[in-house]
Amino acid sequence: MSHLDNNGSRVSRHERYARKQRRKHGKISLLIFGLLICMVIPMLIPSDTPQINQQAVEAAVQELYLDNQFDFLNPNLTREQLEQQIKKVSSLTIDSNDPYYLKAQQAQSKFEAIEGLNTLYETETSIIEGQVVQADLRLRQDVTLDQVTAAVSEINLPEEDALSQQINQLYRDAEQTMQQVVAAQALVEQLPTELASEPDWPTLIADINEIDTLLQTIGSQPPIKTVATEFTKKVDVFATNIKEDSNHQEFDSQLVEQMFECDALARRLSGSILDERKLIALTFDDGPNPSYTPQVLDILAQYDVKATFFLLGQEVVKYPELVKEIADAGHLVENHSFGHPDFATISDDELLDEINRTQEAIYDAAGILPTMYRMPYGSGGARVVQMFPDLQSVIWNVDSEDWVSEDAYTIYLNVMENLLQHTVLLMHDKDQSTVDSLELLIPELIAQGYEFVSPLEINMEFLYYE
Ligand SMILES: [Zn+2]
Repeated sequence: MSHLDNNGSRVSRHERYARKQRRKHGKISLLIFGLLICMVIPMLIPSDTPQINQQAVEAAVQELYLDNQFDFLNPNLTREQLEQQIKKVSSLTIDSNDPYYLKAQQAQSKFEAIEGLNTLYETETSIIEGQVVQADLRLRQDVTLDQVTAAVSEINLPEEDALSQQINQLYRDAEQTMQQVVAAQALVEQLPTELASEPDWPTLIADINEIDTLLQTIGSQPPIKTVATEFTKKVDVFATNIKEDSNHQEFDSQLVEQMFECDALARRLSGSILDERKLIALTFDDGPNPSYTPQVLDILAQYDVKATFFLLGQEVVKYPELVKEIADAGHLVENHSFGHPDFATISDDELLDEINRTQEAIYDAAGILPTMYRMPYGSGGARVVQMFPDLQSVIWNVDSEDWVSEDAYTIYLNVMENLLQHTVLLMHDKDQSTVDSLELLIPELIAQGYEFVSPLEINMEFLYYE
């Protein structure tokens, strides 16, 4: 038996053994190679495993947000859920530059920034929920500038989306308001508590103007309350001192002009002896009346002047639409009791009832709560004024006596003869002669240079008649 090699030549026994061994080794190598291929190929061929991961990350991040741009936070998110989701996202992605990972981190920054806002502003619920920012936000009364500044320096939200912009804006608003509060406070502290005999008028008026402007900018933000009260107190004292002084000394007319250019002082000096304007408050009592009120409104509209109507509750409930018409035309709607009793002869309870029922009736008719009242017959005195500290009692200093005369020309003459530089004129909305007298009165008052104002702008020395 002979063995031939590939070339057909005879080979030795030893040679045959070596060849067999090589073949055996070749098979093992092939097996290892095959195994390696099987392991490597799945790594080289794109499989769907990373795809699933990416979807899971996206889903986890989406849980944090309301919109699919990942700007606005999911409004139902609690801190616990937020932390859980962020943990989940971190476990699914190792790349810290992964946009989803960044969005998850940003959700936490936004969440904390909104929490920070909630400590600065007065609110029971979150200031920003989803895409909704609470309207008319007010700072907490006890918030300080330092606190706001510290909060502003802590937040770090790049303004790359709508929510970040809103959050940053609210922080900036808070900081700006508190800076204004601190500025106003410093100025108010500098104001003297009483007017010196020779005050430094230019500085004083400039300071008052500046504070007044700051207060108007700050508006009704609670942290300004104490400062505003202190300012009011001081300027009230100044105005009273000025009025007292002007009774027995002549102020330089240029100074008086400056006082009236300063709104805070002008408001308090309006209608006083220093006020060189001619002012009249037309007041109509006892309405509304379906026969006369529409005519009065027509004439007032024709001359574009405003008046004050002291209404009776019992007429208001009968003609609520007239009340609404008066108010809609821009006139003042005020309280003249319900049934026109003499306040001097009724009990406290009856008095409360007269005023309060009328407040309610006017509110129901026109959605307005009067701030002034006039006692029927001007009767009731100090007792009534003390009972209604939140309402302003208004009397008059010129009586048209339209309740005496039934002739328009007589009423007109009576008014013109008694006219004052600052007049609160008493009339009634219940007679044709009053309506007709207006056609004579109003053009004459306009010709004489009268301004038609609210009774509150006329500095009446008394609130009631004794
Ligand atoms: Zn009356």
